[in-house]
Amino acid sequence: MRTVADLALRHAFDEIRVSHHQNLVLPHVRRDDLFAVWKILNAAGLAASNIGLAGDIIACPGLDYCSLATARSIPIAQSISRRFADLNRQHEIGPLRINISGCINACGHHHVGHIGILGLDKKGEEYYQITLGGSSSENASFGTILGPGFAGEDVPDAIEKIVNTYLARRQPGEEFLSAYRRLGPQPFKEALYAAA
Ligand code: SF4
Repeated sequence: MRTVADLALRHAFDEIRVSHHQNLVLPHVRRDDLFAVWKILNAAGLAASNIGLAGDIIACPGLDYCSLATARSIPIAQSISRRFADLNRQHEIGPLRINISGCINACGHHHVGHIGILGLDKKGEEYYQITLGGSSSENASFGTILGPGFAGEDVPDAIEKIVNTYLARRQPGEEFLSAYRRLGPQPFKEALYAAA
């Protein structure tokens, strides 16, 4: 935070903006200064080029910080980030918005994630419902619930199966959301639940 604040002071007229995608924006940076700014961000581990990709997740505070929560969000986001840590793989997968909410108040906008994850409570246990096909773009849509939810530790595997199903069936240049809209939920349901 000090690094970002210092960069904002020196390069962005002391201004930092926070987007609803939970990214920070330094406005007004001179084009000639971009490389210097990038070098400082890179040294701080803040220069991953993953915007709009699988590692660029929206997650609400969830049970770690929110008294309304029914399940944790942040550890789920962290475990998915670790699973998709390889930047080359993220770029190979292409645009993918993963949104996570820790209760039905939906502060993580899970219902408009390409992959939405909603944390719920079932008899004192956290579990996670997955929706597919949501979008907050011009061509907006709500995600469709795929089926029964998953325990937290099983969520990264479930996301991986969904992504692999997309990769196996996509047409050349077809993004995740377009592929889902063409294919519908069935192949993804089969990947997640066929062996259950
Ligand atoms: S979605 Fe629920 S758990 Fe998450 S911040 Fe909003 S109220 Fe809290």
